[in-house]
Amino acid sequence: MPDIHRRQSVTVNIGGVRVGSSAPVVVQSMTNTDTADVESTVQQIAALARAGSEMVRITVNNDDAAKAVPYIRDGIAAKGWTTPIIGDFHYNGHQLLTKYPDCAEALAKYRINPGNCSIGRKDDDNFRTMVEVAVKHQKPVRIGVNWGSLDQALLTKMMDENSKLSDPLPARDVMMEAMVVSAVDNAAAAERYGLRRDQIILSAKVSGVRDLVDVYTELARRCDNALHLGLTEAGMGMKGVVASTAGLAPLLLAGIGDTIRVSLTPTPGGDRSEEVRCGQQILQSLGIRSFMPQVTSCPGCGRTTSTYFQKLAEDVQGYLVESMPEWKKIYPGVEELKLAVMGCIVNGPGESKHANIGISLPGTFEDPKAPVYIDGKLHTTLKGDHIVEEFQVILDQYVQNRYGNGTHVINTAKPETVEPPVFAVLP
Ligand code: SF4
Repeated sequence: MPDIHRRQSVTVNIGGVRVGSSAPVVVQSMTNTDTADVESTVQQIAALARAGSEMVRITVNNDDAAKAVPYIRDGIAAKGWTTPIIGDFHYNGHQLLTKYPDCAEALAKYRINPGNCSIGRKDDDNFRTMVEVAVKHQKPVRIGVNWGSLDQALLTKMMDENSKLSDPLPARDVMMEAMVVSAVDNAAAAERYGLRRDQIILSAKVSGVRDLVDVYTELARRCDNALHLGLTEAGMGMKGVVASTAGLAPLLLAGIGDTIRVSLTPTPGGDRSEEVRCGQQILQSLGIRSFMPQVTSCPGCGRTTSTYFQKLAEDVQGYLVESMPEWKKIYPGVEELKLAVMGCIVNGPGESKHANIGISLPGTFEDPKAPVYIDGKLHTTLKGDHIVEEFQVILDQYVQNRYGNGTHVINTAKPETVEPPVFAVLP
């Protein structure tokens, strides 16, 4: 696989997590609890961290939220997590950060939206106040431009100037340029007010995939700040996953982006950690980082009419998700593991041989047996109605053998094959 040449950016240390071209691309997420509800917010941050979120942002929108921040930091630490907590500020950040110094100190980074911190003012005193608090507490900031809250004074000025040109640009292009200008100019102002460049991250989020690629490509060209990538308001379910992937992938492949957030709208009561897993999967699919063993499974077709192999693929995937928090601690490198669960003989043995462990289930008219391949070689052939359990045993043994440090019991024996006649579950 050809190397991706990362755009060179200044690395920023956010509470011990490095973000920039000298560090791996970082996955982050954001809570949707009421920040003033300390217990719920701590629980959700812990869940996001457990899913692999390397930083978590919380909104700090009012006095109660600001007062809660130190308790949230302590609650996370009490659960054994060191995940940096980022404060998201809009409109009143200058007031909250100065009124609640314990909040300012507890946060690992402040997100400043330059489009809404100085509304109705002719100066940038509110922006400056937030930067000065960051300087005082030596905290990095993200200057996060968003097209939904773009600095209207700047946009109006640029639109007016554009309209006077003999060949005006389309309004969309002026908008994209205004986002880049807002990010770059405010980064320069933050440096004038005392922050170092290695304390400033930039973002310019839009909700259109092609707009996202264009605006970040231009922003990347015009600065050397570390960049936070994300499609804002990506949406729900498959739409959100596909749009985020379509937007982030071309940028990441071009080496642009130092930290990512996937902004999925969860279903009511849904699992917020989905956005973390989605971000990880984007990076892993692109070969940028590894987080989780990967299961290759075929889509199925008329050659395998039962749902048996779909169920096995789902069970294996679920088993990996369940096991990984523990495996990560005791089996270093296990995230590189590759599995294959295939539906018939056409591509089954071939694909299985490319995986570390692969199983090729029998198609509709094939012999009711399932060869298992380990590192390209036939290991055993499973039959009967205990294939799932036996495959899991093989998986556990392989993981222990390959990634264990010798402190765990390793059983290298092949599982006993369950003999016919119990084939009813197979196609
Ligand atoms: S491996 Fe077999 S069952 Fe799966 S898609 Fe290919 S032909 Fe169909």
